[in-house]
Amino acid sequence: MIKINAYYYDGQSSTQVPVVITVKQTGEVLISGQSVEIKTTVKLLKISARLANTRRNIYLKDGSKLETEDNKAIDQICGYFDRNILQSLLHKLEKNWSVVLVALIITIIFVWGGIEYGVPFASKWAVKSVPYRVEQSIGEQGLESLDNWLFKETTMQNSEQRHLQKLFDNLVINSEKQFNYRLELRSAQKMGANALALPGGIIIMTDALIALAENDQQIIAVLAHEMAHIEYQHGLRSLLQDSITALFMAGVLGDISSISSLSVAIPTMLVESRYSREFELEADQYAIDYLETQNIAIEQYSKILSLLEQVNKSSHQFDYLSSHPTMDKRINIIQNGD
Ligand SMILES: [Zn+2]
Repeated sequence: MIKINAYYYDGQSSTQVPVVITVKQTGEVLISGQSVEIKTTVKLLKISARLANTRRNIYLKDGSKLETEDNKAIDQICGYFDRNILQSLLHKLEKNWSVVLVALIITIIFVWGGIEYGVPFASKWAVKSVPYRVEQSIGEQGLESLDNWLFKETTMQNSEQRHLQKLFDNLVINSEKQFNYRLELRSAQKMGANALALPGGIIIMTDALIALAENDQQIIAVLAHEMAHIEYQHGLRSLLQDSITALFMAGVLGDISSISSLSVAIPTMLVESRYSREFELEADQYAIDYLETQNIAIEQYSKILSLLEQVNKSSHQFDYLSSHPTMDKRINIIQNGD
């Protein structure tokens, strides 16, 4: 119960009557003074906003008014009953399905927008603060798990390997970032003809891909595409996107325990992460630009992509196509520039 000293004005005359306002926890209000005896509730009072320590006006329904200097007590009442008002508002909202539905839609838009736009933006920004040695060690660990899981040693002749290394060296000398590039040749039955790039500078090509390519130019085209993924840090960015999405969803769903399992999932995410369409087109453009500087016809590039598409059609294992989902469109872009 709060008691406040105030003056009462009846709204008709200028007479002021000293009164005591008694406010109960239930919200009941009693205003009593000489010749004044009013019962009302907090809900029916209109309390003016606080302006420093000036007198506070409280308006009653009938046009009469109270004035008090006890701002502290008024604030106390506002705080107490506002909180109750908020609670009863939430209670009403919960009962009202259409409002719940709107809230749900807003939540979905928020989550979708966060993942669609916020996460790529955040990862693009975050990738800059990852030291190169960390990026490199993520790539090394990725190769290690791939070696344990999918890869076998290459069956290529030494002379063939040296030849490929030469093609590779000529390409990576153009690196703007001066990454530690490294070519790794592997045999991998499950992957078929495939190439992939790991963060930091490792490019892996499978024996089947080398066998599939009709000439060096097609190999160079694929290498240039993979080099672009490294140069633009697509692997690290995808990894960060997945991690941020996981953190974001953990935040939204309130399931913080899922975060601890995130670090365990990193090697798998690295290997399985698929680049977005945007990343693929960016890498294609890089490859096309490079081929032009080397006077290699871009038909060689579209040819190797078509060949890859053909041989990988029957296998739905982890293949070049599954990580490159927009192949038809890309071939079209490469050939027609649209
Ligand atoms: Zn790619």
